[in-house]
Amino acid sequence: MSCYGCYKENTEGYCAGCRKKLFGGKRVSHVLAFDAPTAENIPAYQEKTKQLSISGVQLKYSVKLEGKELVLTETKGEYLLKPIPPRALIALQDQAPENEHLTMQIAKQLFAVPVAENALILFKDGTPAYITKRFDVKPDGSKQLQEDFAQISGKTKKNAGDHYKYNGSYEAIGQLIRDKVAASPPVLEVFFKLVLFNYVFSNGDAHLKNFSLVQTEYGDYMLSKAYDLMCTVLHTPTESDTALELYEGDVDSTFYKQHGYYGRPDFEELATRMFMVPKRAQHIIDTILKKQQEVSGMIEHSFLSSEAKERYVGSYTDKIKRFS
Ligand SMILES: [Zn+2]
Repeated sequence: MSCYGCYKENTEGYCAGCRKKLFGGKRVSHVLAFDAPTAENIPAYQEKTKQLSISGVQLKYSVKLEGKELVLTETKGEYLLKPIPPRALIALQDQAPENEHLTMQIAKQLFAVPVAENALILFKDGTPAYITKRFDVKPDGSKQLQEDFAQISGKTKKNAGDHYKYNGSYEAIGQLIRDKVAASPPVLEVFFKLVLFNYVFSNGDAHLKNFSLVQTEYGDYMLSKAYDLMCTVLHTPTESDTALELYEGDVDSTFYKQHGYYGRPDFEELATRMFMVPKRAQHIIDTILKKQQEVSGMIEHSFLSSEAKERYVGSYTDKIKRFS
């Protein structure tokens, strides 16, 4: 069988490497001791864990380790558990947990994007969930200061309307990174890679709240590990390619006007506006476009259904073509 964390061939749920990264080395089962939330058992759920948020369309539950067992918890949560979303997604909603797990693993293993530790896990009844380790909880249990870019840019429902988190551009986030982060050039490169990754892997929901800064122990700011990466077009085929515009006036670019979508020149322009070294930006673009075989291999090896695999590969291939 494949490891439910990294897909490597393994004899049990999680391999030693994943156990170490996710559970401090404890032999935690890839099957939870409780069932998925349903209309019937939801009161029991809410007794044990307060619903963290209804961010976008996903419900999240807070979980912690007790011995070798993962249990729902109201306080001191160490992990977030995301079951199959109950509504709002249009297509293939039962594939959402593995979609997120696969996309996070591609980012981590093939493109060296620093991501929150994550895995697929099963409820007792066999339905899947996505589990991720909270990166804002320090080893001593205290919380690291984390602010997303809606907070950093001061945008709220009150001052920017219901769609406030979609009200901005990646260029503007880059500007805020330059303002807030002391050694910003390498951080901007990671951010640029992530924006490009989201485009190539059809994550149309990378809005202001899906990027954050965290405060280090020395009091300065760093870009947080990446989270909430998924190929959203699998579930909402008609949504736009990006949640935010790349930069102000991007739809007037020569390439965009010609094709009706972003291409290499648009990402080069974004890099220029973020004062990146052009050669570094070129290198990052080339890196993301490479490894097509490895990407296809990992999709094939994933726990997605064959229909979902086909669509995932299809949308990825379409995006790659836009750069040729
Ligand atoms: Zn593993």
